Amino acid sequence: MTSSTPDLSTVLIVDDVPTNVKILADALRAEYRIKVASNGLDALRAAQSVPVPDLILLDVMMPEMDGYEVCRQLKQIPALWRIPVVFVTAKNSDYDEEFGFNLGAADYISKPYAMPVVRARVRNQIQLKKQADQLEALSHIDALTQIPNRRRFDETFAAEWKRAFRLQKPLSLLMIDIDHFKEFNDHYGHGAGDESLRLVASSLAAGVSRPGDLAARYGGEEFVVLLPETGCEASIQVAEKLRERVAGLSIRHEYSSAGACLSISIGASSLLPSENLSPQVLLETADKMLYRSKQAGRNRVTFSCV
Ligand code: GH3
Ligand code: MG
Ligand code: MG
Repeated sequence: MTSSTPDLSTVLIVDDVPTNVKILADALRAEYRIKVASNGLDALRAAQSVPVPDLILLDVMMPEMDGYEVCRQLKQIPALWRIPVVFVTAKNSDYDEEFGFNLGAADYISKPYAMPVVRARVRNQIQLKKQADQLEALSHIDALTQIPNRRRFDETFAAEWKRAFRLQKPLSLLMIDIDHFKEFNDHYGHGAGDESLRLVASSLAAGVSRPGDLAARYGGEEFVVLLPETGCEASIQVAEKLRERVAGLSIRHEYSSAGACLSISIGASSLLPSENLSPQVLLETADKMLYRSKQAGRNRVTFSCV
């Protein structure tokens, strides 16, 4: 049923009549990875399992949960609403078609259909989905440094906070700021400043290794590192490692009071999320600790653990 080719787009075909599924599957198998479901509940499950479909061809008339209801539910699930839904149905009145589009369908194919036209319409939708995916990915990447941006961080932080609360696991956060970066720009030029930002960003991103870890550019010369399921001591170790990595880049900075090379200051904060704490507390605490690192002479880690 599935192929292991990684860059093949996946089409989920949903129909309660096996012959209908077979006709579409046979026609599309050469171009796409095919998944099938024979009822609404299976369709919702298949939409959420790997490989996640890039397109859903959805029959309308099915027992128990009809295609309209499946579409309505898909559009309400944040992880799934982007998947284009194309109705393939014998219900071919203008009213039915309008109804389908109003539910958020990307296209509406009524039976009887000509297979070459179906193929072309599927190809169009897959093309649009790929473009949308690329834009979506770009909107979460910082253009200068090519690491995740503030927007990605905000979204991930909100999700990880909830997860940490649910699992009752600690969450740690590092606020990072380059030391005397204004002086660096002023003396070495904005171009050299940009290049250093790229180097620091890559070094931070490569310096965190656990699957849930996230290093992002927070803005300007500030970075943030999110460490899920990481307690106080481990987060201090990560922070110290990151500080050393950046110092180890050995970027000359003769106008820094913190040393001969470009350095970072870090504020670290660890919390076990609880009902009466907001994620803002973790950010604010890390920020306060960062301020202390600056005041204490820069190129250091200051932490707050409760
Ligand atoms: P401190 O050690 O207290 O953090 O001093 P600082 O000079 O690093 O802090 P300040 O906030 O005064 O200056 C930050 C500098 O970062 C000023 C700004 O020009 C520079 N900067 C911010 N974003 C960029 C960028 O995208 N490229 C370059 N080249 N410089 C940037
Ligand atoms: Mg700053
Ligand atoms: Mg700075």
